[in-house]
Amino acid sequence: MAANKPSLRLETDVQYLKGVGPKLGELFAKKGIHTVFDLLKLYPRAYEDRRAARNIASLKAEEVVSLKAQVLKVTPISMGRSQRKIYDITFRDASGVIHAKYFRVPYRGYFERFQPFHEYRVIGKVINYRGRLEFHHPDIRDLESEEEIQDDLIPIYSEMENLTSSKIQRLIRSALDQVSKAEWPLEKFPKNLMEKCGLIPLKEALYQIHKPSPEMSQMLLELKSPAHHRLIFEEFFWLELYLAAKKSGLKKEQGLSILSAGEFRQRLLKSLPFQLTGAQLRCADQVHKDLKGPHPMNRLVQGDVGSGKTLVAFMAALDVIEAGYQVALMAPTEILAEQHFRNAQKILSPLGIKLGLLTGKSKASERKALIEQLQAGDIDLLIGTHALIEDPVQFQALGLVIIDEQHRFGVQQRAQLKQKGHCPHFLVMTATPIPRTLAMTVYGDLDVSVIDEMPPGRSPIQTRAAFESKRKMAFDFMAEQIAKGRQAYVVYPLVDESEKMDLKNAVQEFEKLKAEYPQIRWALMHGRMKSDEKDEVMEAFRRHEHDVLVSTTVIEVGVDVPNANVMIVEHAERFGLSQLHQLRGRVGRGTHKSFCLLMMGHAVSEEGRERTRFMETTTDGFKVAEKDLEMRGPGEFLGTRQSGLAGFQLANLVRDVMILQEARDAAFEIFLKDPEMKSAENALLRDELFRAHGITSLAGIA
Ligand code: ADP
Ligand code: MG
Repeated sequence: MAANKPSLRLETDVQYLKGVGPKLGELFAKKGIHTVFDLLKLYPRAYEDRRAARNIASLKAEEVVSLKAQVLKVTPISMGRSQRKIYDITFRDASGVIHAKYFRVPYRGYFERFQPFHEYRVIGKVINYRGRLEFHHPDIRDLESEEEIQDDLIPIYSEMENLTSSKIQRLIRSALDQVSKAEWPLEKFPKNLMEKCGLIPLKEALYQIHKPSPEMSQMLLELKSPAHHRLIFEEFFWLELYLAAKKSGLKKEQGLSILSAGEFRQRLLKSLPFQLTGAQLRCADQVHKDLKGPHPMNRLVQGDVGSGKTLVAFMAALDVIEAGYQVALMAPTEILAEQHFRNAQKILSPLGIKLGLLTGKSKASERKALIEQLQAGDIDLLIGTHALIEDPVQFQALGLVIIDEQHRFGVQQRAQLKQKGHCPHFLVMTATPIPRTLAMTVYGDLDVSVIDEMPPGRSPIQTRAAFESKRKMAFDFMAEQIAKGRQAYVVYPLVDESEKMDLKNAVQEFEKLKAEYPQIRWALMHGRMKSDEKDEVMEAFRRHEHDVLVSTTVIEVGVDVPNANVMIVEHAERFGLSQLHQLRGRVGRGTHKSFCLLMMGHAVSEEGRERTRFMETTTDGFKVAEKDLEMRGPGEFLGTRQSGLAGFQLANLVRDVMILQEARDAAFEIFLKDPEMKSAENALLRDELFRAHGITSLAGIA
């Protein structure tokens, strides 16, 4: 039926929506909202239950509440030497006073909009902070603009410059009302997928999420409504469908089948003074199967610090070398590369394996000789830093690339190295244990093996967080351990990101400590030292010529001194959780009971406190990583914006990991049943996949 007035369509430019116009349209465009459909994908981030309105005196910790209150004042509070400020808004109603704190500014001009003695609505979670109830980052709404909406359950949108949540709500309502039924696009998900995963149609989900019905209030408040399920699933699904397509493509790649008898690895195992753990054997076995197979291996081995990943990697290397190919092992730092090299000298050289070491430090003449040897096939295993992938390095027959500590390398570098070989196998090792499903998503097309067992005989490290005032006690405790023949580390953070300050801090403290404990043999290591100087210090510490190594974070990876059993971290609040866990992993490597003491400065933030306190509660790297992920969010945690992980509106990689798994299973099943995506029911999925990645066939997937 032809309508007289043009109806609004989902793909209509959002500025033609009544109430928007060019100026607001520009603001929306800046936020990536171009069409009406984009606007509908601006989901509420919370809901306000009007029926739960309260007064200040009746508030209890942990409740999510809504209250009407007057602003008394807005106070900016400076944080120490840094430029950072906390904002504190004081609210009052007839029953009492409460403070709302902001640790960042939501947008420029946010705090200027509050008028003293005006009433606002405050919505948020009540927090007990050091015995006092307060809000952290609550939503604050103008009362005047909201009165026209009378519902009990109100969606709350993230505000943008001058655009309040209630204005956004009105625009979205009007869009939903205007988009005629006929204009609604086809559901892209096949029926069987929706039935199997219990998904409601997209249209229904959008209405439910933007025009909430009070019966749904509990589910909506918890972000667990059918609408949330559908929309979160959808966000994950497109990513997983892409990964499944990529993986399916890799299955078509021809790899080197490594058919070795496993003679070398048997000899290695016999030469070790210990047995491999069950988990190490299981992982080695998975790797072995991959290597034998017709396609290139793409496997991630995850295992906590000290779980023995190196041996799993060495076993893979031996199989490949036995079959007549070369192996490259790439480490993130020189210290770590050198340690791998030394370790390989010790346990692989006796088997007749020819080794090479190539780092940024290698002299030009050494490099030249190495590269010649490599081309002549006189090196079986080349160990190094990223210098390994620099242009002149050519292998004769590269069969396997091992990358230690994956998160420090970019995807790009991986691809670069791959180009050098003839489709080599890939083995990636990481000590950043994250939930399995998440790992598979984050690392894209990699298969994941987990070493979830520690070598026997390691007693758990005892961790204590303490304020600086306990510093003397901590160092006295360390001195006692030294007197018993043990060794220790003292670590200083980077101060204000400046190497100079960092250096000064460690050097100054080093001098003070030397004077304070003259009976102890102190050593100092920092990032400004040349690498051979660092090596010298490290070696001397290893030989127990020093008792305590004072250092900046250069010891974070790569140091393996089993006699060291005390780790003191100064200003521990400045470190991230995963970093603290890595540092802590430097002790507890021998049979001695080990200790980690986290010293907090007095200007510690709530978050810093929470981190150090959390470290006391667990030594499980998985738990630490999960908490880290939760506190920092995936973007910062993973240190990358790769593979579409940053683009989620509604989905949360930590909270929604179950839905992630569902979406992943569904996507991979599609490729299992229909590898070319040729069936009619998958046609719309395929079109969307092609459109989103700008490709015209599955072979085009990068
Ligand atoms: P990571 O997983 O952190 O890379 P490493 O491979 O460096 O750990 O191993 C840590 C230490 O544990 C090394 O000294 C290694 O020789 C030792 N190790 C590895 N596997 C075992 C085992 N099964 N039993 C005892 N010690 C082991
Ligand atoms: Mg390691």
